[in-house]
Order: sequence, then structure tokens, then C-alpha cells
Amino acid sequence: MKIFCVGRNYADHAKELGNAVPEEPVIFMKPKSALLPAQTPFHYPAFTNELHYEVELVLQVCKNGRYLPADQAHKYYDQLTVGIDFTARDLQAELKKKGLPWEKAKAWDQSAILGTFKPFAVQASAGPIVFSLQKNGQTVQAGNSQDMIFSFDHLVAHISQYFSLNIGDLIYTGTPAGVGECVVGDVLTGFLGDEKMFELEIK
Ligand code: ZN
Repeated sequence: MKIFCVGRNYADHAKELGNAVPEEPVIFMKPKSALLPAQTPFHYPAFTNELHYEVELVLQVCKNGRYLPADQAHKYYDQLTVGIDFTARDLQAELKKKGLPWEKAKAWDQSAILGTFKPFAVQASAGPIVFSLQKNGQTVQAGNSQDMIFSFDHLVAHISQYFSLNIGDLIYTGTPAGVGECVVGDVLTGFLGDEKMFELEIK
């Protein structure tokens, strides 16, 4: 199982971190060990002093494929949820400054949070997909799939030009504006529409 992540897929988030809006998708990966297993507590990592949440729509791949054209891409994912791409922002800033890879800031154990999956078709049939994150009961991020720079189909087709897609692979499709810090004791709650998909306390 592979975990693909998309960087800078919402213009307002690219701007808040001082990044240019990309001309093609920014793709990075997390290993399988990055996934926080269900019913497992999340602990604040020792190597950061600036842990950021990034709430994202997450697709699950349902069919093996490579070199997909965009008009076929929709057949290759069928489940959707929200998740968090946790980021050690202080480490990431250092790595970016040195032009080094992001893994130590983004791909560490249990840095990927997943909500409960829902059938994609049901969510999409109601129009644009809205999602949000609350921190201690206050909304800190709110996104709309319409604001993505690269659509789900564009992302899936693009990724498949480089990496084979396999059943069960996950695609974190990028975060909207409003990323920020969390500390021990904070409770993060992810919503797809009005439905709660996960709740997580930072231990
Ligand atoms: Zn992200």
C-alpha cells in the first residue's frame, strides 16, 4: 500500500506558506508506517516544536492501473474520507531552505490520520465536496473540492504516469488555507460535510 500526498493544491494555502501556485501537481509520499492505526493514541513527536495539522480529502484507489488518461481516472477510486497530513513545520522549513527532501517533516510514523471511508459517488452526487477541521470545537480549516487547483481526476492521472496505482493506495489531495499549530491536549475533529469522520486527541 502506498500513500501519495499532494502539496499546494489550494491557491490560498500555497500563498499562506509563501509558495508559488504550481503549474503541475506537487507529489510526495508517506510510507505505510505513517498511517495511525485505528484506536491508537496519537503522541506529539519529540523531534518538533511546531506540529501543524493539514486537513485533506483522501481518496482510496479501487483498481490497479498505470498511464491513465484523465477521462478514465474516475474508475480508479471509489472511496473518500478526510484525514490529516501532520507536518513538523519547523523541520520542513529547515529542509526546504536547504533544498532537502521532506520525509523527516512529513512521512514519520503515525503522521497520516484517516477518517471513515464513504462511497465517493454518494458524496460527489450532492455537488462540490465540503470538508472541515475543528480544533477544540472551533473550525480552523474549511475546504471545498471546487477550489482544488488540480481535480481528483487530474491528480490520479498525473500520479499514474510515474507510479503504478494499486488497490488500497491512498491519495491525500492537499490542504486548504488555515493550517496551524496544535499542542498536547488539543482535540482535532474532521468533518465531511456535516458528518464527523474522525476525532483525535494529541497526547
Ligand atoms: Zn498536506
